[in-house]
Amino acid sequence: MVLLVDDQVLICEAVRRALAGETDLDFHYCTDPLDAIRIAEELKPTVILQDLVMPGMDGLDLVRQYRDRPSTHSVPVIVLSAKDEPAVKSAAFKAGANDYLVKLPDRIELIARIRYHTRAYLDHVQRDAAYAALRESQRQLMQANLELERLTRIDGLTGLGNRRYFDEYMLAEWRRALRNSTPLALLMIDVDNFKLYNDSHGHLAGDEVLRKVADAIQDGVNRSGDLAARFGGEEFVVVLLDTELSGARTVADQIMRRVRAMDIPREGGHVTISMGVASMVPKEGVVPDDLIKAADLALFRAKSGGRDRVEVETAA
Ligand code: GH3
Ligand code: MG
Ligand code: MG
Repeated sequence: MVLLVDDQVLICEAVRRALAGETDLDFHYCTDPLDAIRIAEELKPTVILQDLVMPGMDGLDLVRQYRDRPSTHSVPVIVLSAKDEPAVKSAAFKAGANDYLVKLPDRIELIARIRYHTRAYLDHVQRDAAYAALRESQRQLMQANLELERLTRIDGLTGLGNRRYFDEYMLAEWRRALRNSTPLALLMIDVDNFKLYNDSHGHLAGDEVLRKVADAIQDGVNRSGDLAARFGGEEFVVVLLDTELSGARTVADQIMRRVRAMDIPREGGHVTISMGVASMVPKEGVVPDDLIKAADLALFRAKSGGRDRVEVETAA
């Protein structure tokens, strides 16, 4: 697709005749320079042949405008000029022309240059499209990886952290607390008589209860470094950073209130939870499992004391 911009109809006719035998070259011309930009944007030529001296408009200005516009930015421009002067040629290339021919050029040379520039342009366009496609697929891959990474940390039923993430998080925060000599607290939460709930309401209703309890736990955890996770089955854990027993107890009570406020009905009352709370300043020779055991011990007391309550492990 060739676009010639030249105010002289005679020149346009001469170029048209020169290209007439080339059936693969689609030739258009424009004799009004004020129309050139619009036509170039509509026609999307692969080469522009540009006259320099035209009434009311400098050809070099047009060349600069092609370069400034995204749609014509990289379309090759061959300047067709009556002048064979180095200064004019230099100005044309400086304005952004790709080639320079003195009017009227030899037919063979004109066709050869048009073909050369067209091929270069089409290669360029193709490469751009390939790069864009590559960038897009890289972006999608990165997104998929991020999503995958997120999924490996999340419990599918409740949306809380999963067991694996809890283990990693606990270990990392344990080490940090060891370095800083700060306390790390753990809440161990277990739904009361949940086997019975499943037996009388079915597992799907049971799953719904787990989701609600998980929401209550998540809502009861305020600080950004704190992690609520599903420990397994109907048991949940909350890791509280830099938190003493009394602070952990406050968070536990808050979660307790939220679960009560949900008032999830069940046979003879509403769904309740029991909680064990422990806090430790990590020391050498003590491991994260010791904190879990301490919270578990408190949970056991909460269960044996009648359920629906919080117990704290002070011996830890
Ligand atoms: P306790 O008050 O002593 O904790 O009694 P419990 O019945 O809650 O405890 P137990 O450990 O005997 O039973 C836990 C039940 O939780 C058994 C199991 O069917 C149920 N459960 C575990 N995971 C899921 C789950 O993902 N969905 C559902 N619906 N139920 C689950
Ligand atoms: Mg249990
Ligand atoms: Mg239970």
